[in-house]
Amino acid sequence: MTPKQRRYSKTKDHILAQNAKWKQSNPDWMRGYRLQYALRLKREVFSHYGGVWCGQCNETSLLKLSLDHINDDGAKFRKVHGVSGTKFYAWLRKRNFPDLGLRVLCHNCNELKKFSRPRSAVWMRKYQNRDAFKLMCLSHYCPGPVQCQHCTIQDPRVLTLDHTANDGASFRRKHRIKGGDDFYRYLKRRGFPDLGLQVLCFSCNQAKMIMNQ
Ligand SMILES: [Zn+2]
Ligand SMILES: [Zn+2]
Repeated sequence: MTPKQRRYSKTKDHILAQNAKWKQSNPDWMRGYRLQYALRLKREVFSHYGGVWCGQCNETSLLKLSLDHINDDGAKFRKVHGVSGTKFYAWLRKRNFPDLGLRVLCHNCNELKKFSRPRSAVWMRKYQNRDAFKLMCLSHYCPGPVQCQHCTIQDPRVLTLDHTANDGASFRRKHRIKGGDDFYRYLKRRGFPDLGLQVLCFSCNQAKMIMNQ
């Protein structure tokens, strides 16, 4: 290494250390910066896969939309390539937006997609029972009709319980429970305790999660 390179290397290390220190002491600014980057990237990617709107229900809020693998090979894709969310969008941009059978759907329509396929009577019965149980649980956390507290959609298939304080993940870790049915059974066993929960649809829940990241 020449003396010039050595000097440059020292300065570079110093600048990197200063930057890291600044980022650490400005977490809110960094959060906003990361969010803006993620949303800009998402908007750009979606414009290559049909635009910023759900082709099923016309939802146009970027926060409520996601990319759907039309042939249901999303899990396989993630297993092979190990990317999801913002990393997946960056992956697509880097490869110049390849044709992978993708389209834009909102989170609700993405969930409803599984009901549009031909299903056996046993499968349908299982899901109907599950929805009835879920509705009963949700009714304990919803004043008035069971509906999303943001957009008022009432389809039980897209409703979920949201931890208003955004502590759902730590709650599940602490109590060693999974989400979904496991959580509903947990609530029923304890007589539906007040845990700061509200009913939201998947789309509104995802939008809230993104804003609170
Ligand atoms: Zn939709
Ligand atoms: Zn909603």
